[in-house]
Amino acid sequence: MATSSAFALAAGCAVTGAAWAVRGRSSSVFGPSVWRGDSNRKSIALTFDDGPSASTPQFLDLLATYRVPATFFQVGSNVLRHPDIARAVVAAGHELGNHSHSHLNFALKPASLIERDFTRSQEVIHTETGAKPVLVRAPFGVRWFGFRRMQARLGLTGVMWTVIGLDWKLPAQAIADRVLSHATPGGIICLHDGRGTEENPDVTPTLEAVRRIVPSLMEAGYHFESVSQLLCQKT
Ligand SMILES: [Zn+2]
Repeated sequence: MATSSAFALAAGCAVTGAAWAVRGRSSSVFGPSVWRGDSNRKSIALTFDDGPSASTPQFLDLLATYRVPATFFQVGSNVLRHPDIARAVVAAGHELGNHSHSHLNFALKPASLIERDFTRSQEVIHTETGAKPVLVRAPFGVRWFGFRRMQARLGLTGVMWTVIGLDWKLPAQAIADRVLSHATPGGIICLHDGRGTEENPDVTPTLEAVRRIVPSLMEAGYHFESVSQLLCQKT
């Protein structure tokens, strides 16, 4: 619909002449979604899903070392488990996105359940951190009927990715190789600082991969931005 946030984004970006807007597959059915920024700018966005976890502060330390911003798509139930860590992510200057409350696969689920779940996480994230997400990423990248209405009601733009690290199953070097070989101007990198709603996930391979990815991309001349910056939502 014309009032979708994706259209609003496109209008805002038109002012600067940026041609970032690419809508994801099936977006006309499941709601507006973007998966990359302007390919004419050598900018790239790091995104982390499934946090916060007890290991998230290690990611914050690493990103601070390189002065690199990222976007964390947090799970509402994980925010309730680690509200202090969720706040620390915001305090460090990173962007938060909504990654649902319960991290379900929402395929085949009723629209009312989808709306309830994302509304809950939106409220939890806002209450616990003070941040109000404008971005949403579906768990497992699976969108379904109901996403369009949920996104419209909550004012959320769907965000996919240009490369996903498969970091829940690959060793660090393989994650880094995969991400670096698919890095592209305007790209969005999907990694994970948690594992679904697991209480004590081992995210060491991801952390080690980030330690290799960030300096390599900096050396290659990339500039890191939050997803909103990449999509021209912020100036
Ligand atoms: Zn996830």
